[in-house]
Amino acid sequence: MAIDKKIELHLHLEGAATPDFIRQIAFEKKIDLSKIFASDGRYAIRDFVHFLQVYEAASAVLSRPEDYARLTRSVLHAASETGVIYCETFLSPDFCGGGDLAAWQDYLAAIEEVADQAQRDFGITMRGIVTLVRHFGPDQSKRVARCAAESAGRMICGFGMAGDETIGHPRDFAWAFDCAAEAGLPFSIHAGEWGGAQSVRETLDAYNPPRIGHGVQAISDPELVARLADTGTVLECCPSSNLVLGVVPNWQSHPLARLRDAGVKVTVSTDDPPFFNTDMRREFAALEQHFGWGPAEFAEITKTALEAAFCDEATRAEISKQLTT
Ligand SMILES: [Zn+2]
Repeated sequence: MAIDKKIELHLHLEGAATPDFIRQIAFEKKIDLSKIFASDGRYAIRDFVHFLQVYEAASAVLSRPEDYARLTRSVLHAASETGVIYCETFLSPDFCGGGDLAAWQDYLAAIEEVADQAQRDFGITMRGIVTLVRHFGPDQSKRVARCAAESAGRMICGFGMAGDETIGHPRDFAWAFDCAAEAGLPFSIHAGEWGGAQSVRETLDAYNPPRIGHGVQAISDPELVARLADTGTVLECCPSSNLVLGVVPNWQSHPLARLRDAGVKVTVSTDDPPFFNTDMRREFAALEQHFGWGPAEFAEITKTALEAAFCDEATRAEISKQLTT
C-alpha cells in the first residue's frame, strides 16, 4: 500500500477554508472580518468556544452556492496536494441555507459539481456527511436531518453531529438521528473531545455509531477503551486540533498511540486544518516524529479509514485500487 496516498474521514468543509480564502470573499462582499484574524494573518482563536465563534463568523461570509463551489475546489486542491485521494467532509445545512431544504439542495448541487471536477482534475474523491450543529439545538437538528434524508445518495453518505458537545445529551437529538437512519445514513458523532469519557459512553449507549469524531477522552476510562476495542468503533482522531485547542498539552501525551495499543481502531485527520496550522502530510510527519510510526502503522490507519469510509462499495473498491497502485 502506497503510504503517500491518504484517506481523511474528519474534515469540516468551512473549517478547511484558509484565512486568505475567507479574506478574499469578505473583501468581495465588503464585509469587515478583521477581528477574527491575528496580526500574522491567521485565524485568531483563544479557546474552544472562541474557536466556534470565529468559525461561525468566517462561515457567515459563505452565503451563496457559488461561494461553496469555490471553497470546495480550493479545499480539495489543497488536500490532494498532501496526498489525500479520498476525503469525507462534514457539510452543514445550517451554514448552507440555514436549514432550508430547497436552499440546501442548491448548495449541495454546487458542491457536488465541483467535487466531480476535482476528481477529474486532482484525483481526489469527496463524499459528504450531513452534520447537525449540537449547540444550535434539537429543533434546528430536525431541519438538518430532513435535508440529510432528502439528499442521501452517492455524495451524501453519512449523518453526523458536531459543535459544542458539553451542551445537552445525545438523545436530545433522537428525532434527527432516527430520521437519518431511516434514510440509510450511518453516523459519525463528535464525542470525547471536550465532553470527557462520559460523552463517549453516552453516544455509544444512544446510537452505537460505527465512527466517533475524536473520542480521545475515552482514554481516562479503561473499561470504555475496552468497549471501544470490542465494538470496533472507529475513532477519527485529529491530534493537531486537540493540541491547538488545548484538549491535550503536547504530542507525547496524546492518547492516539495508547488507544491503538489497546486495540481501538484509530484513524487520523485534520479537522479544520488552517485553524490548527496543519495538513495530512504534517500529521503523518508528527506521528513519525513523536510516536516513531512508519510505513506499517500508516498503512494500517489508511486501511482502517478505507474500511470505515461511508461511501458505496464500488467507490471503496476504486479507492482501494488507487492505494495499491
Ligand atoms: Zn470535528
